[in-house]
Amino acid sequence: MSELTIEFGGEELTLMPSGGCFWAAKGTLFVADLHLGKSQSFRARGLAVPTGSSAATLKKLYVDLNSTGAKTVVILGDLFHHRDSHCEALLAQVLEWRSRCSNPNCLLVEGNHDLWAGVPNEYGFTLIQQDHFEPWAVFHEPDFLDDRLALAGHIHPGVKIALDSRTAIKAKAFWRTSNRLVLPSYGQFTGSSTIEPKPDHGIYPIIEDRVIRISHALLAKEIPPFGRSRRFAASEL
Ligand SMILES: [Zn+2]
Repeated sequence: MSELTIEFGGEELTLMPSGGCFWAAKGTLFVADLHLGKSQSFRARGLAVPTGSSAATLKKLYVDLNSTGAKTVVILGDLFHHRDSHCEALLAQVLEWRSRCSNPNCLLVEGNHDLWAGVPNEYGFTLIQQDHFEPWAVFHEPDFLDDRLALAGHIHPGVKIALDSRTAIKAKAFWRTSNRLVLPSYGQFTGSSTIEPKPDHGIYPIIEDRVIRISHALLAKEIPPFGRSRRFAASEL
């Protein structure tokens, strides 16, 4: 597993292949868009999607907290997916995760889905405001017009990378603009949407188990309809 450390606002942040962003100086792990209970809310509406996505997301978060030693985890919004997501089974999963992780300090920047779903107290997350940390703010929606430096989520950024004239692949990515570091969606079963970064932006896709830095020139303009998909190695990029 290979991470990438970048500087943002004078602080070093480690971008992890899981989609997490670790601030070692403060022992704090940032993640965005878990959408816990998403598959369950679909099933509640009769869509036969697979079970287990929340358990897989919480397991990943357990592994990240364990490997980094982070004592604080900050969710940059959309911890929960939908009102229908809340049930005893999900609450039990989250509480079990908390105790396995030695009860980390769990902070939440409310996202649009959280506002809709509600965040019951029993889950043990503390809501924080945008100015909770220095030197940057923490947002759910990036709000690019606000000129503060900020970490954000919500967009589920992804990129299409051209391997050759006929082949492109899609990957979740961290996206750095002049004033934002936008994290990829962390939750299983959350997907990504393709961003259109400017040439001076930082583009850090997650390829297999590595976070890499790519130039704007490697982005595919579009995936041709005849483009084929195949497995690839991070070393090809
Ligand atoms: Zn959102």
